[in-house]
Amino acid sequence: MRASFVLAIIGCIFGFFAGIAAALLGAVGVAFGASGASSLYAYASITIVGSIVGVAGGAIGKKLGGVLMLVGGVMAVVGTSLFGLLPFILFVIGGIIALRERPAVSLQPPSQYSEVPTSQPQVASRFCSSCGASLKERATFCSSCGTKV
Ligand SMILES: [Zn+2]
Repeated sequence: MRASFVLAIIGCIFGFFAGIAAALLGAVGVAFGASGASSLYAYASITIVGSIVGVAGGAIGKKLGGVLMLVGGVMAVVGTSLFGLLPFILFVIGGIIALRERPAVSLQPPSQYSEVPTSQPQVASRFCSSCGASLKERATFCSSCGTKV
């Protein structure tokens, strides 16, 4: 498994924890009537969505995946600043690794056989096997020596 994908999975797990922690804080805050507590739900969902984006990026890999991981990391830290810091770091490291991944060079074997035309079965020799005279199309006997062909 690629290092960037491992980091993305770990980042996603931490991101989910961060999101859940923020949501729980939000729930406690709402229960106690704290102002602005309900906005924690929105931040929690940003972190969780960011985690999903990040892990998806880790699965995709390379340039697109690396960019997705960076976006996911930023979303995690925007959502739950301190909680989101760990997934942010993991996603950023993984994203940078993914961005530096070189696309797998696909060595295509030289197509040895594709160029060779499928040889069609030769129509019976157009020359007499006995005397070598050229035969007419559908001739059953050589017109020169009379040998059956
Ligand atoms: Zn002949």
